Amino acid sequence: MRIGFGYDSHRFAEGRRLLLGGVEVTYEKGLLGHSDADALVHAVVDAIIGALGEGDIGRHFPDTDPRLKGISSLVILKRAAEMAIHRGYAVSNVDSTVILEKPRLAPFIEEMRRNIAKVLGTEPSRVNVKAKTNETMGFIGRGEGIAAFAVVTLARAGADEVA
Ligand code: MG
Repeated sequence: MRIGFGYDSHRFAEGRRLLLGGVEVTYEKGLLGHSDADALVHAVVDAIIGALGEGDIGRHFPDTDPRLKGISSLVILKRAAEMAIHRGYAVSNVDSTVILEKPRLAPFIEEMRRNIAKVLGTEPSRVNVKAKTNETMGFIGRGEGIAAFAVVTLARAGADEVA
């Protein structure tokens, strides 16, 4: 078994869609980034790559790559999952936290879990997504941006069928 940790942050900007966990969240601003700036999915990708001991998301999916411009981060997640499969691992479970002051994510969380689980070929019950505010402190508290953290465990394929 392997454990990986991921972190990401993105700045809010006008005229962008807010995509988190592959869900378009209703809000007046979105996140700035080369791809769709889905910080939650990026944190999960970094955790998978970290668990594999393969560096980070920027090494495999650089933000200078024109093919990744505007791409859905779920596509990047799919490629990270394939990296794990090629190494003989399956994603066992994901736990994640999105930290943002606004908007409230509760209505969107189940869909985020389903989206991430589907791409990873697992059950939503193995993908946990939490949302917290930063109690109005710091850049998150001022509404300048958001952060996301994720922990992923990988198990040797076929070795993790005990729920
Ligand atoms: Mg990112």
